[in-house]
Amino acid sequence: MINAKLVGQTHANHQTIVEISETVAFGGKELVIIAGPCAVESAEQMETVAKKLYKTPIQALRGGVYKPRTSPYAFQGTGEIGLKVLKQVRQRYNMPVVTEVMCISQIEVIAEHVDMLQVGSRNMQNFDLLKALGSAGKPILLKRGLAATIEEFVMAAEYILSHGNPNVVLCERGIRSFDNYTRNVLDLAAVAALKQITHLPVIVDPSHAVGKRELVASMSRAAVACGADGLIIECHPQPEQSVSDARQALSLEDIVTLVDSLKPIAVAVGRIIAEEMGVGNIPTPIPLVA
Ligand code: PEP
Ligand code: MN
Repeated sequence: MINAKLVGQTHANHQTIVEISETVAFGGKELVIIAGPCAVESAEQMETVAKKLYKTPIQALRGGVYKPRTSPYAFQGTGEIGLKVLKQVRQRYNMPVVTEVMCISQIEVIAEHVDMLQVGSRNMQNFDLLKALGSAGKPILLKRGLAATIEEFVMAAEYILSHGNPNVVLCERGIRSFDNYTRNVLDLAAVAALKQITHLPVIVDPSHAVGKRELVASMSRAAVACGADGLIIECHPQPEQSVSDARQALSLEDIVTLVDSLKPIAVAVGRIIAEEMGVGNIPTPIPLVA
């Protein structure tokens, strides 16, 4: 029995709705699909991504600017320049944006630029960060730790709620196991379990779960079939050239095809995919960051 007073399901079928913009909310009938590169590399890159995706059922953009890399010598992210790029595409295409926060000192500046703060797997049990996010004033996307149990995951969310922020979305992104054919093992039973034992929205990140682009579409469909409230998927204008996580990045064409293939599955499980935006909804051009 998990002692999660705030996160635990108390009433049958109670479902928390987490809004990240006027039109995008997790936990309702509509699935929320977030897409974008692993890392924000340049203004041109994000512009190309947003321009291709904003008219599709993909409602939100992702892109890391502070990157938790295994090697200290690997690309660490574009930092505040990347945040400005995110803010621009967000306004230009009217799409909410998600990015990762790695430490307490980054919270304020990130919250000024984006709509949702992601806590990455490596920080799921950074309890001081979780406490501080209680007063971040923005919704949190909490990813499951690399080898976290469901109970540890739920209790990490409990930290955020108990410090004042009720807007938490859980994200299953695969856990470590003995087999490294896939990057991680996507635990879809955890999605079903979390939907039963908590009232928080639960989404799936198939990209980090499998680590291979050719497996992402199948796992996305499986995630929708088992009741996930949404997906967060990595894509890139030139997948092979991605500065991080190139092997799992989908092309922009492939992600659009993938999203189309989700429709019948969504309908079969009583969900809907956002309507495609009509042509003519062209955003107001504003200058890009150099
Ligand atoms: C990411 O979303 O780019 C990321 C680093 O994910 P995770 O924390 O799940 O590894
Ligand atoms: Mn990544």
